Amino acid sequence: MPTPRTVAIDGPAGAGKSTIGALVAERLGYLFLDTGAMYRAVALAAQQRGIDPDDGPRLTQLAGEIKVAIGPPTVRDGRAYTVLLGGADVTWAIRTPEIDRIVSQVARVPYVRDVMVEQQRAIASRGRIVMVGRDIGTVVLPEAERKVFLTASAAERARRREEELAARGDKRSRQELLAEILRRDELDSKRPVSPLRAADDAIVVETDGLTVREALERVLQVIERRPIPS
Ligand code: C5P
Repeated sequence: MPTPRTVAIDGPAGAGKSTIGALVAERLGYLFLDTGAMYRAVALAAQQRGIDPDDGPRLTQLAGEIKVAIGPPTVRDGRAYTVLLGGADVTWAIRTPEIDRIVSQVARVPYVRDVMVEQQRAIASRGRIVMVGRDIGTVVLPEAERKVFLTASAAERARRREEELAARGDKRSRQELLAEILRRDELDSKRPVSPLRAADDAIVVETDGLTVREALERVLQVIERRPIPS
């Protein structure tokens, strides 16, 4: 069975896209691109400049000015990749509760998306990539050879998020995380531009009750077993 060149993995916050996506990429020897990190970097830039996350015109201007780049890990501290904003390492700075709170507002600005999507497509044009996000199978790479929509109940996603953050020494209550996840789900799926949804040709993988290993196996099954559309 030939391996596809482009794999799109979409899904809501906390569904395990980053964890599973990175493992799939490692297994296939592909590049991994977590597009959420790019929107988070724009949100951080807005926060640093005191821009209101609802100020569309200023965010539009900002998107044209800043430089966001993602590359292989430059420090061995558990990161899967390094995120640069104007050359500064912001890999962990984009993971704060404040960025969680504003990122979906920033990501709904059409020009912010245009700039990010252009960069994402340029990276994907080299092939052999696993790209994860919200709109990869629907908008960024509609021609992706494999599309997976990874999902889990909100309660399960909040539980995983709590564990993941606790492992990094970041203690947040499950209730707070659940509320944040529901709020982001709502903003991401109701926005007019590129809303979160499964592409018509995506395979939905429900991960409630599955271990990371089990979820990974299921996703690999989807990727490796289905014939590539001609
Ligand atoms: O995946 P992650 O939770 O890090 O994404 C952060 C936010 O970035 C999402 O809640 C969403 O608002 C936005 N995003 C997006 N399109 C993508 C990836 C992320 O709008 N492809």
